[in-house]
Amino acid sequence: MPLNDFDRYCYACGADAPVDAPLHCNCGNPLSLRAHARPDRALFEQTPASLWHYRALLPIADDANVVTLQEGATPLVTAPRVAAKHGLAEVRLKNEGANPTASFKDRQVAVGISHAKEIGAKTVACVSSGNVAAATAAYAARAGMNAVVFMHAHASEAKAVQAALYGATVVPVDSPAPSAVFDLCIEACDKWGWYHLSSAGIYEPYNVEGAKTIAYELWQQYGGDLPDWIVAPVGGGGLLGGIWRGFLDLKRLGLIEGIPRFAGVQPDGCAVLDRAIRNNETFLESLEMPWPDPATIAGGLADDILFDGHTALPAIRETQGAAPVVSDDEIVAAVRDLASSEGLACEFCSAVTIAALDRIPGVGQGTRVCCIITGNGLKDVPWHARNYTLPEAIPATVAAVEARFQEGEWQRG
Ligand SMILES: [Zn+2]
Repeated sequence: MPLNDFDRYCYACGADAPVDAPLHCNCGNPLSLRAHARPDRALFEQTPASLWHYRALLPIADDANVVTLQEGATPLVTAPRVAAKHGLAEVRLKNEGANPTASFKDRQVAVGISHAKEIGAKTVACVSSGNVAAATAAYAARAGMNAVVFMHAHASEAKAVQAALYGATVVPVDSPAPSAVFDLCIEACDKWGWYHLSSAGIYEPYNVEGAKTIAYELWQQYGGDLPDWIVAPVGGGGLLGGIWRGFLDLKRLGLIEGIPRFAGVQPDGCAVLDRAIRNNETFLESLEMPWPDPATIAGGLADDILFDGHTALPAIRETQGAAPVVSDDEIVAAVRDLASSEGLACEFCSAVTIAALDRIPGVGQGTRVCCIITGNGLKDVPWHARNYTLPEAIPATVAAVEARFQEGEWQRG
């Protein structure tokens, strides 16, 4: 069944092409998918049960091919203590950790694997630091497919275990450069006829469509009154570029006039976006300069190139956005601060958004901010467990409890 309501579009030169065109534009940049459907405003006013509420804007032809664990429809929670600490009018957190495998990657993989099913794939493969691996493994199980997940040197052990739990074949690769592992994965897919499910628009335009639905949900959750800034972590840039393209859809449909400004946050140990913005690099120029030695506690952001820079760079530039950078110490502090002040434990990768709140130009009193919390902090429990000493057990007496408090354990009055 053809995808009548889609074509492909180049955000670098403005060219369009048929939906079945080759991946790359004549100008050398990757083409993105672009929806033309015009759902009624009423669709966006309804509370979604999952991201498939926005089915008309997702590139799957036949409902029978939709593979779902009811992903999306995640909470938007207020963070008044974070807002007060940073002197902002409002901070809200889009909690993507509430997805089925506990990260936003479920949105992308659900759409990508549905497309894989549509074209008859039996085995899917991906490159991942962890979250895509877990999502790919879970959705492959759901679809009755095999999954092979290549995990690079910055991958999280806990997420590898999570992927194995869902029955995937986990293949750790001894390389610090994700781009090199991508080359390996693509070669393996070509050799064995696997479907490449990695979350990287330069190789595969279907997955990243899933991230658009975050923008649709935000419009509904904010009652159409969107915040001034969207603050999102950037690894390859697919999340940020995807949300921006979702807002472009809302603008095309007449639901919004302006688009919030975008801040894409990276760790200082892998700051390709910051470099590209400061040096005014084109996407293709940035690809020529992989980050030499990615090193950060936020392993999901250790991408040595911007796999979705063709949408992430224009998202920053066209919204007069920013690309702040934070240190690992600031990331760890932000995780602990958010958990203990708002009751929300997030991944290291997500905490960059909180750590960056003081260094986004123009953000201050009166500013309303939405931080995209990409993954659940329970994924990092092995790290926290190594850095936490459980206090010694006490006898079961009130006197022993009182003694413990007098040692300084009691924090809240
Ligand atoms: Zn082009």
